[in-house]
Order: sequence, then C-alpha cells, then structure tokens
Amino acid sequence: MPGLRSLRDLPSVDRLLADERLAEEPHDLVLVIARSVLERAREEIKAGREPGPLVDSVLDELAHARRPSLRRVLNATGVLVHTNLGRAPLPAAALARVLEVGGGYSNLEYDLERGERGSRQNHLGSLLRRLTGAEAALVVNNNAAAVLLALAALAEGREVVVSRGELIEIGDGFRIPDVLARSGARLVEVGTTNRTRAADYERAIGPDTALLLRVHQSNFRVVGFSERPRVSELAEVARRHRVPLVDDLGSGALARVGDEPTPAESLRAGVDLTCFSGDKLLGGPQAGVVVGRAKLVERLRRHPLQRALRADKLTLAALEGTLSLALSPETRDQIPVLRMLHEPVERVRARAERLADLVGGEVEETVARVGGGALPLAQLPSAACAVEEQLAEPLRLGSPPVIAVVRDGRTLLDCRTLTEAEIDEVAAAVRAAR
Ligand SMILES: *Cc1c(COP(=O)(O)O)cnc(C)c1O
Repeated sequence: MPGLRSLRDLPSVDRLLADERLAEEPHDLVLVIARSVLERAREEIKAGREPGPLVDSVLDELAHARRPSLRRVLNATGVLVHTNLGRAPLPAAALARVLEVGGGYSNLEYDLERGERGSRQNHLGSLLRRLTGAEAALVVNNNAAAVLLALAALAEGREVVVSRGELIEIGDGFRIPDVLARSGARLVEVGTTNRTRAADYERAIGPDTALLLRVHQSNFRVVGFSERPRVSELAEVARRHRVPLVDDLGSGALARVGDEPTPAESLRAGVDLTCFSGDKLLGGPQAGVVVGRAKLVERLRRHPLQRALRADKLTLAALEGTLSLALSPETRDQIPVLRMLHEPVERVRARAERLADLVGGEVEETVARVGGGALPLAQLPSAACAVEEQLAEPLRLGSPPVIAVVRDGRTLLDCRTLTEAEIDEVAAAVRAAR
C-alpha cells in the first residue's frame, strides 16, 4: 500500500480484509480488529501522522489477541515463594496427576468400593494424617479460607482470644481482625504488641469464649524485649478451660525448615486444629489445609461455607502428588521449592557462571529469600549474573518474560530460582533484549 497521507487514502474494511496475508484468519476476529486498526489510522491522519502499514498492524493485533494473558515467566528474583509470580512451581509428579485426573472423569465424589456417592474430602485424608499425625483433615481453596471456615464453624457469635502481637496483615488485605469479623466471631485482644503471656489469655477466657487463636507472625518478627507463650503452655490453658486452641501456621513446612513450626509439632504440642497453605513452603498448589481433632474437623466439613470454599479436583490432584513426594526424604527434593531451598550455593554459583559466560555478564554474590511470608529473616546465600541496567524492561516484556532485580545500576539475574534449562532461555532472552 502506498503511504497514507489523507483520509481518502484509507482502504475500506473489505479491501483491507482482501489482503492475502489475512485470507486464512477467522473472519469475525479479523473484522473487529481491522475496524479498530482503521479507526486508529483515521485518528493518526487527522493528527498529521502517517499510520504505517495497516495489514501489519492487523497481524500484530491478531498475535496479541491470541497470546494468553496468564503466562509462564522466568523468576530471576531469587525469591522462592514469590506471591506475584504464582508462589510455588509445581513438582512434575503433581502436574502428572493434574493431567491424569483433569483430562478425563475421576472418582472425585464417587466411592468405588461401594458404588455410591463419596466425598472429595476423603482422598487426601490418609496422606495428611500420616504426614501430620492428625486425626482428620480438610482441604479448602487457600489458607485464608481455612481460617475463615474454622472461625465461622467454631466461633460464630462468640469470642475469639488473640494476642495483640499476632493481629497481622499478610498482604493484599488479608487482616486477621477483618477475617475474624467476617466470620461472625468477636475479637478479644490480649497482651501487647511485643509481650503476651499465657496468663493474659487465661484472664480473657469467659463464658462466651469459643476458642483461642494463635497466628504465625509470617512476614515480620518482633525482636528485643518480646515474649510469646510456648504453644504447649497455651494448649494447657485451653485444656484447663475446655476451649479449643486453633493455630494458623501460615506457611506450614511439613519437614523442618529453619525455625518454621511444622503442623505435626503444632499438634503434638496440644493444638486442636492447625491450618496452613498449600503453596508456600509445602511447595504445592494453592490450597488451605486444616488438620486436627476429628470432631472439630467434622464441624468445619458440615458448615455451609465449606461448600463455597472447597478445593477443586485439579488442586486436590496436584496436592496429592506433592504430598506423596513429601512422605520420604528421598523424593522430597523433587518438590521445586524445597530443592531451591536446600541447594548448595556452589551449584547456584555454577549456573550463574555459565549464564555469565553465555551473555558476557559478571557473577555477583546475592542473598535469596524464602518469600511468601515465611522465614522473613532467613538469608539464603546465592549468586546472580549481572547485566546492563537498561535490559530489565525488555527482559520483562520479552517472551518468555524474565523478571529480574535492578540494584546499583545493574540488572541482577539470581540463579537460585532458575533451573539449569532456564539458564539457556535467560541467555537467549538477554541476547534478544540487547
Ligand atoms: C499466608 C498466610 C495466610 C493466608 O494463606 P493463603 O494460602 O495465601 O490464603 C494466612 N495466615 C498466615 C499466618 C499466613 O502466613
């Protein structure tokens, strides 16, 4: 097409669509796009600019319309459980379970032995009981849902005692006092921001007390003049007054990671109900797991909110796949989050050196983080390949997008959160971005 300088040079929609490069495209889709390209071209000409080749614009927009919005990205930030980047990457075994269960029909709510209706909550029960020592378990959409359901089922219209040092906000507006209010329970605050003792809880217990709630401090720590009762002390108070103790563990690492309490430890210390996330240090899909006394779990299961908060079959399949790997130390490191967490820094540095060789960057020592509100103070020694600062944006806009950290005038590509195969993809992305 010759240069477009006046409105009279613009083709009709039909003539634009007659271009052979658009012949194979679905008519309805190109029609809408061609109209908007022509509309924009009209505006450009009126503003005294040349709109450029119209068919190319239509093809660009077609490609854009077909590209999915939710895409795989390469995480070069060194934050393992990065909430903005989808938290835990799933283990291959979990993905295989998703394909198998999601690609066809399943016994999601069907009891194969009896040939009658079953419960979706039965599939993961025995795995979770074995991993945590609990009497019973329930899986919902996420840990926020688990906390909400526990409070609604056990404390609606009654009082919940919480330490002032644990009235936390996790991020994206999840605040313990708000969730408590939504559940229909009344908050009774005890202690101070930095110090709460078992006796503070004890004094607050009255005829209207439904439960004691303990909340993992997640993304912050109080250091210095601070005190929190041990879980076992609190359990003792709860037992004496015959009220349940509920422990929101947040991350919930199944095996020891730093000083993160495990669900098994929490229950052994006398907690009645413990809940945790599926996609933080557990390393699986987004889910909320509640484990503990069978009678309490059953009350959660029968509550009307359970139907609205339950996990779907793909989540259950992925969680079952992840939990199976967590059962034994030999398979545990097939869970990507745990592998990244435990990998010796020399191996991370070897990847950074390979990347630096491939793109002509420099290796730099860095500190990786767990993220996801777990172990906020933990520093994982790591290594990055440093490249030019101005590459950060084109890397983010590339395909696949690479998310890096800009610091001191350079773009750092942290290799703790990149796999061996992803190093080659990042190298290709850096070359494309230059
Ligand atoms: C992360 C977290 C939650 C929320 O869990 P989601 O799975 O993200 O819904 C609740 N409580 C604590 C203490 C947490 O750390």
